[in-house]
Amino acid sequence: MIASVRRVISVCTLGAALAACGTVEAPGGGRTAVPSTPARHPAAPPTLAAGPAGLTPVFASGSRTRGKTVALTFDADMTADQGPRAAEGERFDNPQLIATLRALKVPATVFMTGRWAEEYPVQARGIGRDPLFEVANHSYSHYAFTADCYGLPTLDEDRMRADVDRAFKAFRRAGVRNAKPYFRFPGGCYDRRALRALSGSGVTAVQWDVVGGDAFATDADAVARQVLEGVRPGSVVVLHCTRSAAPTTERAIRTVVPELRRQGYRFVKVSELIGASAGTS
Ligand SMILES: [Zn+2]
Repeated sequence: MIASVRRVISVCTLGAALAACGTVEAPGGGRTAVPSTPARHPAAPPTLAAGPAGLTPVFASGSRTRGKTVALTFDADMTADQGPRAAEGERFDNPQLIATLRALKVPATVFMTGRWAEEYPVQARGIGRDPLFEVANHSYSHYAFTADCYGLPTLDEDRMRADVDRAFKAFRRAGVRNAKPYFRFPGGCYDRRALRALSGSGVTAVQWDVVGGDAFATDADAVARQVLEGVRPGSVVVLHCTRSAAPTTERAIRTVVPELRRQGYRFVKVSELIGASAGTS
């Protein structure tokens, strides 16, 4: 059983264009990670097995009982129609955040849109080739995969798979090697139809259990508090890598990281959490 067959209720803290939305599963059963068979190639990233009828599997958090690990994830959002705003000087990147993660030696997973990789190819390549990080897919366009998703433009069902593939192509063109087969839905919005559209792509959908609340935030301490209050062993925290709409994230991280380490947490990438759930690491 996987989350894909149940109704999903999204709880959004803030505005539309940025995915700052927590997802809570409807009553009726907890998410169950379905272990895939161990990867045939030792370098193959761990994924979850497909659900019934081949539906795309969904991962939201790791084991609560296998030690104090936590995965920080950063969505590098840029919507397909934001090019003119970037051309006028709006910054959708956040190099200082990446520099701070490096300085603090914090492994992290960056869910990147293909449009972001096109706008910032040097940064995309630098993140993609740094073993501290892994790049995963946040769609090409940052358009929604369901009809009603915080005002985002909606992709037609027959365009969904192509949008995901286009992002992987954009990563490769930017020089990102080995982007992970993990996909985060824009806004966290998905339904059975979207999971079916991506079946066969080989991706594992990755949600989260902790909303950082950094989208449009102005108070870094409040973001840090929200993360610290939410983290449990195995948590996946969603934050953002874009100065334009998440200007306090880097400062919040400078508070969050030492405090979680003081509490005994170890930072890991999403692949490690999935691998542990799938029994492959
Ligand atoms: Zn997003």
